[in-house]
Amino acid sequence: MTIKNVYHFGGGEAEGSAGMKELLGGKGANLAEMATLGIPVPAGFTITTDVCTHYVENDKTYPETVQAEVSAAIKHMEEVMGRRFGDPEKPLLLSVRSGARASMPGMMDTVLNLGINDEIVRGLEAANPRAAWDCYRRFVQMYGDVVMDLKPVLKTEVDPFEAIIEDVKRERGISEDVDLRVVELKGLVQRFKALIKARTGKSFPDDPHEQLWGAISAVFGSWQNDRAKVYRRINKIPEHWGTAVNVQAMVFGNMGDDCATGVGFSRNPANGAKGLYGEYLVNAQGEDVVAGTRTPQPLSELRDAMPALYKQLDDIVRNLEDHYRDMQDIEFTIEHDHLWMLQTRNGKRTGFAACQIAVDLVAEGKVEPADALTRLIPDANALDQLLKPVFDPESINTAKTEGRLMAKGLAAGPGAAAGKIAFNAEDAVAMAAKGDPVVLVRVETSPEDIRGMEASQGILTARGGQTSHAALVARQMGKVCIAGCADLVVDYSRGKLTAGGMTVRAGDYLSIDGFTGEVFTDRVRVMPSQVKQALFGSGEVAEQARQSHTFMAFQRLLEWADQYRTLGVRSNADQPDQAAEALVYGAEGIGLCRTEHMFFGGDRIMAVREMIVANDSLGREQALEKLLPYQRDDFTALFKAMGTRPVTVRLLDPPLHEFLPHSTVDIMHLAKSMHVDTDVLNKKLRSLHEFNPMLGHRGCRLGITYPEIYMMQVRAIVEAAIHVRKYDGIDCKPEIMIPLVGHRKELAILRHQAEDLIANIMAAEGVEFTVPIGTMIELPRAALTADAIATDADFFSFGTNDLTQTVFGLSRDDSGRFLPDYVEKGILPDDPFVSIDLEGVGALVEIGTQRGRKSNPALKVGICGEHGGDPQSVHFFHQAGLNYISCSPSRLPVARLAAAQAAILYPQDEGEGQ
Ligand code: ADP
Ligand code: MG
Ligand code: MG
Repeated sequence: MTIKNVYHFGGGEAEGSAGMKELLGGKGANLAEMATLGIPVPAGFTITTDVCTHYVENDKTYPETVQAEVSAAIKHMEEVMGRRFGDPEKPLLLSVRSGARASMPGMMDTVLNLGINDEIVRGLEAANPRAAWDCYRRFVQMYGDVVMDLKPVLKTEVDPFEAIIEDVKRERGISEDVDLRVVELKGLVQRFKALIKARTGKSFPDDPHEQLWGAISAVFGSWQNDRAKVYRRINKIPEHWGTAVNVQAMVFGNMGDDCATGVGFSRNPANGAKGLYGEYLVNAQGEDVVAGTRTPQPLSELRDAMPALYKQLDDIVRNLEDHYRDMQDIEFTIEHDHLWMLQTRNGKRTGFAACQIAVDLVAEGKVEPADALTRLIPDANALDQLLKPVFDPESINTAKTEGRLMAKGLAAGPGAAAGKIAFNAEDAVAMAAKGDPVVLVRVETSPEDIRGMEASQGILTARGGQTSHAALVARQMGKVCIAGCADLVVDYSRGKLTAGGMTVRAGDYLSIDGFTGEVFTDRVRVMPSQVKQALFGSGEVAEQARQSHTFMAFQRLLEWADQYRTLGVRSNADQPDQAAEALVYGAEGIGLCRTEHMFFGGDRIMAVREMIVANDSLGREQALEKLLPYQRDDFTALFKAMGTRPVTVRLLDPPLHEFLPHSTVDIMHLAKSMHVDTDVLNKKLRSLHEFNPMLGHRGCRLGITYPEIYMMQVRAIVEAAIHVRKYDGIDCKPEIMIPLVGHRKELAILRHQAEDLIANIMAAEGVEFTVPIGTMIELPRAALTADAIATDADFFSFGTNDLTQTVFGLSRDDSGRFLPDYVEKGILPDDPFVSIDLEGVGALVEIGTQRGRKSNPALKVGICGEHGGDPQSVHFFHQAGLNYISCSPSRLPVARLAAAQAAILYPQDEGEGQ
């Protein structure tokens, strides 16, 4: 069986289709689909991603049949287009375009106007001499860059071709490429070729077929270039996917003023607003629009300039959106009065736009909610953007009255960013590594800047439109972005930025407003977002916020999410105010209340310290006696806030020495209040020293050695619950959680002590209700012996932070030095403290759950580590059959959406809901 390596498209039909992205890449598959839909697409063919894999793995060689298949496909293309490749009479020029399974905008290479030489250019001159030489000039330049690898020698050198163009323009006193005449273009072609020869030692190829294979190889090779690799790492695109190569007939947007090229979106990718949105340039080609060298016109102006073509474009874009049931990002070219579509794909968008578009497409009856929640918002973190701070209008006013408004550009990525100015990617990375917030300022960004963009809070460019590379990538990364800020004068060599009569320098603070496009010197104060104001604010401002599209979309999505999810969502909260916040964000209970924080307030710490340094249990009990009322009050307030929802209280966990005084003054103070000698106290303190406290005397080990500590806490919990039930009439539901259990006997002993105490208190008070007692699973031994432990547990809660530390044998606080290397080198897919390590920690979660439920089928299982707010981890917890997750209050919206996605994508057989 011979394998098919080449798939053609055009002339109203195609061999491929949108479903073949794995093989044809996104661009190729969608070009095929458009051709079949009858949309005008220049004819061409796609060489498969399998060929790329072969090429990369076999020393840059091709499968045997590829050459013949390409020749046949070119014949087909020639027939459809009525021109011939390499024929000076009626030449067919080609574009050679990359296109992977997932779009990687600008990361790989493309060569345009291929198949031209000194002879063939004559055949093109007949139609339009200037356009002919403009194409030739562009071709030599792109081919020189992409295929012959003529790059700037030093980082600081400008593109060598652009430098020559600038020379010529200066000589002639013109500023725009379009003003270059035929003579100058001819001169450029010669100079470019000479430069290539001088720098590479190789002659520029004249043979169209040699040109074609050079370009195909370069595009396949660009899969391995540095920026593509960085992009894949950030976006988790596997190395083995490879890119396809699309070879396509050229159409020309540079044939005069009735020609144009542009890019657009079926809806606004920054905020999701309905309607065709985009930019174009008259008499231009290729990357001119996205490269940001000329600032393009908005598409709304095309409506006035070329109404019929605009209408055709608008219709096509709407049809495409309906067809794909998703917002589309398109590229087009107008050659005289003919519209050609060059690309369509599902558009990248901000979190704001993702939410708005999802809700709107459902309202328009085009998409079902379940589909919207999973396909249109694949990353639940999108919701988080809606909670990020914005600039405070008052502080903006102040900045304006102080004359600090420097300039205004295009609002290309919403949000507020204040940070120190970096003028290049390297500085941005270095400044961010020091912990500084960074605003990256560039004349225009190129794909090489991607690392710097990742490190920055905000990106500001002088050139380029809403659809420039900077804007596109910024939006996708969720960064604040202002583009096309034409008034900015960026002086890289002196490290300064001037506009509106103001000058700022590298390292100075700059504030950029991605909603309005305004740039301010210095810092503008931030305030809560619209959604946060709607949720937590009061008065007219909050009322207005509640009417906003953004808030309504936010609410609608979460309503849907709650209908689908089967995982319970609880919050980690220690205090009543946190509990109240958690409730607003939709918490169904508290999954982790850490009691140690309660020990620090006011004079409590004194009592805690007395308790710790006491010599015997009597001394400890006396000190604990002082703490009891505080703890009881804390729990009373918390239980009241949570009403009838469960509240899991974890007994004391950290090593005792964390509470001890360190400074001499504090030690003296404590000695005095305890009426002991400072020397005696110091000796006691030294005796409490631990070499490795996180693996030391902490968690239930404290309860085993000092039972009175845990019993005081149990008493406080139960007495508070009785109080709330009696005096507030609320059937509150406390749960007691014992941390760091590794052996079933630890839990058995502590459980029985607690049960006895609870029974005594209840008998004395004449009340009865159940207080579930459970444990955290945060040691490998606990997970492995979960069946034994579960016989004494009403519930498990996986403490995935400690479990990750103990499974990997690494300390979270020290891992910052080397974990990034592990991710960079691909040893780990993610930081395991952010996204759960499926193979190790995840396996123990599964084992612990299964073994625990086997011996105790009524066992409730949850998780309360940081991972509860990470969408990928939530998807896993759902699949592992957990009953609930618990995360910090502000991560709840993300967790609710992620839980719904998991329920939709991975339905469980039995209803596992809590
Ligand atoms: P990228 O993946 O970086 O967007 P593309 O393959 O889409 O690269 O090519 C970049 C640009 O080149 C396109 O936006 C389009 O303007 C131009 N281009 C590509 N193919 C053609 C063609 N057949 N005719 C005219 N212009 C083309
Ligand atoms: Mg490109
Ligand atoms: Mg493109």
